[in-house]
Amino acid sequence: MNELKTFMLMLAVGNIIYAILLAGYLRTGKTAASMRVWTWAKAVEGCAYGAFWLRPDLSPSVGLLLANGLLIAAAAGQMIAYCMFLGYRWQRWLLCLGVTAELVFAGGVMLDTSLPRLTVLMSLIIALLCGLAGFMLIGDRRNFSVLRCVIGIPNLLISLAFLARAWIGASSGTLTVFSPGPTQTMICLGAYFLLIANGLGFLLLSKQKDERQLRALATTDSLTGLINRYGFMHEAERARSLATRSRKPLTLMMIDIDHFKALNDRHGHASGDQALRVFAQAAEHTLRKHDLMGRLGGEEFAVLLPGTAILEAMEAAELLRLAVATASVGVADGSHAMTVSIGVAQLLDAETVGEALVRADRALYRAKRNGRNRVEVHAWHLAPFTPDGLEARPGAPWAA
Ligand code: GH3
Ligand code: MG
Ligand code: MG
Repeated sequence: MNELKTFMLMLAVGNIIYAILLAGYLRTGKTAASMRVWTWAKAVEGCAYGAFWLRPDLSPSVGLLLANGLLIAAAAGQMIAYCMFLGYRWQRWLLCLGVTAELVFAGGVMLDTSLPRLTVLMSLIIALLCGLAGFMLIGDRRNFSVLRCVIGIPNLLISLAFLARAWIGASSGTLTVFSPGPTQTMICLGAYFLLIANGLGFLLLSKQKDERQLRALATTDSLTGLINRYGFMHEAERARSLATRSRKPLTLMMIDIDHFKALNDRHGHASGDQALRVFAQAAEHTLRKHDLMGRLGGEEFAVLLPGTAILEAMEAAELLRLAVATASVGVADGSHAMTVSIGVAQLLDAETVGEALVRADRALYRAKRNGRNRVEVHAWHLAPFTPDGLEARPGAPWAA
C-alpha cells in the first residue's frame, strides 16, 4: 500500500512538473490549441494522481469521485489533444464520450457500487480512452510515421493492460487501486511508461510538425504555391543524381513572362500577381506529374523534365507556350493575353543544374531577342560557348 502510494505521488509530481514546464513554454508565443489542451490535461492528470495519493485520508466517496473523475478528465483531454493535433474532427464526440464516462462512474459511486466493481469499471474506461488515442496515432495509414507508431504502441499496450486488469478484477472480485500485487504494480509502471511515452511523444510530434511547416515555408513561393529557387535547386540536384545513376536524360526550361512590367504598369500590381498565378496553373496543367516547376524569382520560372531528351522537351515547351497564350488573365477592363519566352537545355554529363540553367537562360534571351513568345534551345554542339562566370573545364563540351 505504501509503495503504491509513493508511486502515485511520483506520478503526480512528474505530471505536474511536466505541465508547469509546458505552461512556461506556452507563454513564449503563439502555440497550437492542441498544445494548450494537452498542457491542461497533463496538469489534471498530476492532480488526479495527487488525489489518489491523498485518497486514504479523504472521505471514501469524495476521494473516489475526485481521483477517478480527474483521471477520466485527463485521459479524455489527452485524447482530444491528440485528435486536434492529428487533424481528426471527432472532438465533440470524444468530449461526449469523456462526459459519459464521468457520469457512468459518478453513477456507480452514487449507487454504492463496491470498490472492486468500480475498479473494473474504471479499468474499462481508461482502456477505452488509451485504446482510442493509440488508434488515432496508428490508424491513419496515409499519415503513417515511425514516430506515431512509437507513441501509439505504448497507448495500445496500456489499453490492453487495463483490459487485463478489468478481467482480473472481475474474476477475483477483490482488486482495488491499493491492492498489493503484480496487477497494480503493472498498472503503476504502465502509467509511468505513458508519462514518458506520451509526454515526450506529443512534444516530438509537435516539433516534427513545426519543422515540416518551416521547411515548407522556406521552400514554397506563397503567391503561386510553387517551390521557390532554393527548393527548386535542391530538388533538381536530387533529380540530377538520380538521372545520372539511371543514365536517363534530363532537360531544363527557363521561362520568362513577356512584357510583364507593362502588365503591372497598365493594370496594377494585383493583376500582375494574378497573371503569375494563372501562369502557374496553366503550366501545371500542361506538365506531367513528375516534372518539377519552381519560381526562381519575379516572373521567371524553371522546369525540370526528368527522363526527357531535348526534342521531347522542346515539344513540351511549345505546348506550355501555347497553353499560356490561350489562358487569359482577368483585369479590370476585360482580360489580358499573356505570352512567355522559353529557353531549353538538356543537362550534359557531369554538368550541374546551375550550369545547365545558365545555358537555358542563354537560350531564353535568344528567344527574347528573336521577338518573344517563342521557344529556343541551347545545344552545345549547335552553339558552343563558355558560360559567364563558369570556368571551361577540360572535357566539358563547351571547352572544345
Ligand atoms: P521582358 O519581356 O523582357 O521579360 O520584360 P519584362 O517587363 O517582363 O521584364 P522586366 O525584368 O523589365 O520586369 C519584370 C517585372 O516583374 C518588374 C517587377 O516589378 C515585376 N515583378 C517581379 N515580381 C513580381 C511579383 O511578385 N508580382 C508582380 N505583380 N510583379 C512582379
Ligand atoms: Mg519578363
Ligand atoms: Mg525577367
